[in-house]
Amino acid sequence: MTQERGAEQGFVSFRNVNKAYAALTVIRDLNLDVARGEFLTLLGPSGSGKTTSLMMLAGFEHPTSGTISLDGRVISNVPPHRRGIGVVFQNYALFPHMSILDNIKYPLRARGMRSRDCTQDAMRALAMVRLEALAHRTPAQLSGGQQQRVAVARALVFKPSLVLMDEPLGALDKQLREQLQDEIKSIHRETGVTVVYVTHDQSEALTMSDRVAVFDKGRIAQISTPAELYKSPLSSFVASFLGESN
Ligand code: ADP
Repeated sequence: MTQERGAEQGFVSFRNVNKAYAALTVIRDLNLDVARGEFLTLLGPSGSGKTTSLMMLAGFEHPTSGTISLDGRVISNVPPHRRGIGVVFQNYALFPHMSILDNIKYPLRARGMRSRDCTQDAMRALAMVRLEALAHRTPAQLSGGQQQRVAVARALVFKPSLVLMDEPLGALDKQLREQLQDEIKSIHRETGVTVVYVTHDQSEALTMSDRVAVFDKGRIAQISTPAELYKSPLSSFVASFLGESN
């Protein structure tokens, strides 16, 4: 019996994706499948193409060639706000003039939901990150860690099937980072949302992920479970990258 290649396609699927900025090729023939409900981390040195891959999935950048699909549908021509993807990017800040509650309601209001219904959903999302008590403050009145938790709640409030996170904990100290790693993991477990997560911190990648894709110069050097990565690195690049301490 022959098996259609398409039948193996993941919930998220990159097929032969290339990306160049002028003469600089930053993603090279990328093929990647993410299963529904999976927590996949893109790990690798600075400049290896992790953020560019996430930006293409979010729709803020476009492949030079190749296709990206979500739930079986090619999304090349779908604008970012129609992709149904929640994003937590470091440079995707909260609105400073709005309360925390209004920040979280924003994606729902933008989808046409009535204000009262939005409030209920927004408070539920705030409860997931244990910040209900701060709903009426403004972002400037919150700590950096609390602001990132609000950003996570805002990305989840419209119940997306996919959430993208780019170094969401990068600016936080170690203790806070570990606490938020636990919170993000339990949200992932409880909601079943598919997560594509970017970090250059290998211990973060290894503790949080179902699988890790190690990037090297715009290519995936290896994609496997954390245990498999450590047990059987496929190349000297992967072995030496994992061997570096953070
Ligand atoms: P990573 O997330 O792994 O640090 P990036 O995806 O941010 O890597 O960057 C990959 C490469 O693409 C780098 O060499 C970076 O300088 C380059 N790059 C990223 N964005 C742009 C841009 N808008 N214009 C030109 N080059 C860019």
